[in-house]
Amino acid sequence: MTQAPPQTHLEDDEWRTAQSQFDAAAEILGLDQGTREILRDVQREFTCTFPVEKDDGGVEIFTGYRVQHNITRGPAKGGLRYHPDVSLDEVKALAMWMTWKCAVVNIPFGGAKGGVIVDPKRLSKRELEKLTRRFATEISVLVGPDRDIPAPDMNTDGQVMAWIMDTISMHRGFSVPAAVTGKPVEVGGSLGRVEATGRGVMICTLAALKHLGMKPHQARVAVQGFGNVGSISAKLVEEQGCRIVAVSDEFGGIHNPDGLSVKKLIEYRASQGSLKGFHGAVEIGRSGPLTVECDVLIPAAVGNQLTSRNAEDVKAKLIVEGANGPTTPEADKIFETRGIFVVPDILANAGGVTVSYFEWVQDLQAFFWSEHEVNEKLRAIMERAFAEVLAVSLDKKLPMRMAAYVQAVSRVAAATRDRGLYP
Ligand code: NAD
Repeated sequence: MTQAPPQTHLEDDEWRTAQSQFDAAAEILGLDQGTREILRDVQREFTCTFPVEKDDGGVEIFTGYRVQHNITRGPAKGGLRYHPDVSLDEVKALAMWMTWKCAVVNIPFGGAKGGVIVDPKRLSKRELEKLTRRFATEISVLVGPDRDIPAPDMNTDGQVMAWIMDTISMHRGFSVPAAVTGKPVEVGGSLGRVEATGRGVMICTLAALKHLGMKPHQARVAVQGFGNVGSISAKLVEEQGCRIVAVSDEFGGIHNPDGLSVKKLIEYRASQGSLKGFHGAVEIGRSGPLTVECDVLIPAAVGNQLTSRNAEDVKAKLIVEGANGPTTPEADKIFETRGIFVVPDILANAGGVTVSYFEWVQDLQAFFWSEHEVNEKLRAIMERAFAEVLAVSLDKKLPMRMAAYVQAVSRVAAATRDRGLYP
């Protein structure tokens, strides 16, 4: 094993990562200085502090953010995250990535992200609802179907989206389902939305395996994170014939080279609250899947997991980024040198925002599609986006991440040029 350089503090800085990735793409595209300066920063950042009454009658103050990176190609779109580590810089990076993600799959949205600094596990359901409704009220000055459309992200789900939709609707005095996506189907959600990000990861995994000349049944897959994205990606790639050999969540990881049944893992996690102690597997820790013997690695937990500290130890030939920002630029360089094929986050996990776009379209038209229609339209968009990025990668001899950036940034830059500078 080669000695990795010590990880710098900077390597953990997602905003620095996002800006340096953009700078590299801008350089390749030869973007003019003005456009670079517009696109390398966020357009709007909103910070709020707000009180929530706890069940015991006490009051706790929370801080939340909503950032719109760019709205040149359409309304701002992006998830809301509830996590103790949420910071303004992280939200800015995630908002910028949303702009590129929407542009890679060519849907008419700009990029946004939001979050609240909170560990939702500490709150009762009633407290979580109060926090959500108060935060929705704070950001309601920005939110609306033609302005900014939130969606789920880490620790937020359909229920949280339903509370936000209801709060915005109460303020307006009529139902505004298109103000938020990832809602339950009963209140205007789309069939297929819950599985959409994992389905997109599966579609990219199959396309990448094909490009690398591997059959799905030859592929051993390791997955970090077993929430919405991780568990559904695992389930869907297993259905395609891949063997899941390792998975983890925040409490720990498990490994079995002969394969793990995703159905049993999902049942076990539902009953035990975590994967720890799953029968018939060896415990490997929550970072274990990153460096385990496998062909495909799907990071689907938090950011900054693949760094200069562990990139040399990764065994996978293919990395499909379910999570946002799991790989630092330092790790990216190591993967490039080692010939590891990386399907970047802004392409690999774009299935979620794509079906959010379908949900928004269905809400605006009040005309809903079958799950089959949703899945087929998603497949068409993901396969086209993968093929377009691969073509740029082969044509310009760029790694897939830079090819995706070049594709996305050139679309946003063209829209910026066409619209011109106001006033
Ligand atoms: P989630 O809250 O449903 O699940 C997160 C999972 O990661 C949980 O299993 C949690 O236990 C695990 N986890 C957290 N920290 C970990 C750690 N240090 N090591 C191992 N596991 C850890 O969240 P999600 O919606 O599945 O999101 C996961 C990632 O995918 C995030 O980066 C998110 O931004 C990204 N993403 C989500 C969507 C979506 O539609 N939900 C879309 C695009 C990208």
